Amino acid sequence: MEHFELIVIGTGPAGEKAAVKAAYFGHRVAIIERRKPFGGAEVNTGTLPSKTLKETSLFFSGKYEKGLYGIDRDLKREASIADFMFRKNHVCAVAAQEIEENLRRHGVTTYMGEASFQDPHTIVIRGDKEEKISGDNIMIATGSYPYHPPNFPFDGTRVHDSDTILNIDHVPQSLCIVGAGVIGCEYATIFSTMGTKVTLVNMKERILPFVDREIANDLVIQMKEAEIDILLQHNIADCKVPKTENDPITVTLDTGKKIEVDMFLFAAGRSGNIQSLHCEKIGLQLGKRETILVDAQYRTNISHIYAVGDVIGFPALASTSMEQGRIAVAHIFQTSDLEHLPHNFPFGIYTVPEVSMVGVTEEAAAEQGLDYCVGKARYADMARGMILGAKSGMLKLIFHKEELTTIGVHIIGHIACELIHYGVLLVEEKKTVYDIIGQVFNYPTLHDLYKYAAYDGLSTFTGHRVKP
Ligand SMILES: Cc1cc2nc3c(=O)[nH]c(=O)nc-3n(C[C@H](O)[C@H](O)[C@H](O)COP(=O)(O)OP(=O)(O)OC[C@H]3O[C@@H](n4cnc5c(N)ncnc54)[C@H](O)[C@@H]3O)c2cc1C
Repeated sequence: MEHFELIVIGTGPAGEKAAVKAAYFGHRVAIIERRKPFGGAEVNTGTLPSKTLKETSLFFSGKYEKGLYGIDRDLKREASIADFMFRKNHVCAVAAQEIEENLRRHGVTTYMGEASFQDPHTIVIRGDKEEKISGDNIMIATGSYPYHPPNFPFDGTRVHDSDTILNIDHVPQSLCIVGAGVIGCEYATIFSTMGTKVTLVNMKERILPFVDREIANDLVIQMKEAEIDILLQHNIADCKVPKTENDPITVTLDTGKKIEVDMFLFAAGRSGNIQSLHCEKIGLQLGKRETILVDAQYRTNISHIYAVGDVIGFPALASTSMEQGRIAVAHIFQTSDLEHLPHNFPFGIYTVPEVSMVGVTEEAAAEQGLDYCVGKARYADMARGMILGAKSGMLKLIFHKEELTTIGVHIIGHIACELIHYGVLLVEEKKTVYDIIGQVFNYPTLHDLYKYAAYDGLSTFTGHRVKP
């Protein structure tokens, strides 16, 4: 039986980065994956395909330019599903290939098949043949799968979860999405941009509950302008799929209201991929929604077994999963380059328009009883915003009023997910309002939003309305 210093289960962002880092530091590493293409949800069903679809939909609809320049593009034309999917398929294929190459270049031994524990050091791999390998350390990076409520008629054709929606063979005329979390909101705006009539149904009274309320409300306004129907505090009572594909699906809400649509997407909740691991055999401690419990070093209750990425639950992002993998390796092999995930990391929501945030929201600051103040700047008032023809978009800074430090940054608008990274440094390094106004930025850029929001915030400290 082959023996390794580290066995990693899963080639998603958490597993890939962990395996490659351990091999880079000279350790003997194996990685196990049950299905190709490599890359897990990041490459196949989540991050990259949905983001590529977003960009493609903006391109074909001409809405990117329409929104920003106030004019329609000549290029706008009827796009087929093949047009929409072509770039997604290309990006995902190249990304999966790159992961395989990266593992090979670093000398990581790859096994294809489903991994399960025989004992705490031995893994059985069921692929074309059955193999067993043993490891000093084992890292579980098996990701998550979309939740299916019971008695729901998922068929992967007209009634979808966030995995199967990427395999559609036509752009739906109309789509009902349940769940106004990140995935639901992203797909609502992506499909709306493709020309689909979207109805977004949410049980709670607001969309994206962890996002600053003012920013979330702004997104709601822009979604409504895009003719997305948003039904809050509603639940689905029933979803009936007719036998004939030309007839509409009938969705009945708990109020009795009926909606007829072409397609249905359930996008609420995910659970950890642990079923095939046989965790019970070795006594691994589990949490809610099939997650694995870990400590701050990503160590499970069994000291040589680690778990990282979606399988441990929140925050369940590709960005944080990669870092968790690298941090766990740092603890296993004492590479002493990484200790823990930064306290302040960004959230990127690739809706149309994008939303991104770091640090506290205004409501959280108020709930925590912090003495805070707010500074805002609008895209339309910035020189670069004017050049782009921006009509909407805002950056909002939250400062600690006494210490003048930046405690929250919230952005809605063009490339918000890129612009946030300066904000991450401001919050992480406790930069003050004076640090921001003392910076020189390229001109004209959207980074000016930071400076003008800082001046706006400063006016609350000084009592003067500053218009620098
Ligand atoms: C629609 C959507 C959009 C998203 N957008 C973003 C985004 O914009 N930004 C962002 O940061 N994150 C985003 N995410 C989240 C991101 O995709 C996940 O957080 C990330 O992929 C989790 O990485 P992971 O390595 O933990 O697991 P995964 O990527 O799920 O990979 C797990 C791998 O393990 C394999 N596996 C499972 N069980 C076994 C077994 N027993 N044996 C062998 N192999 C096994 C699976 O086949 C899979 O390849 C999105 C997710 C979705 C669904």
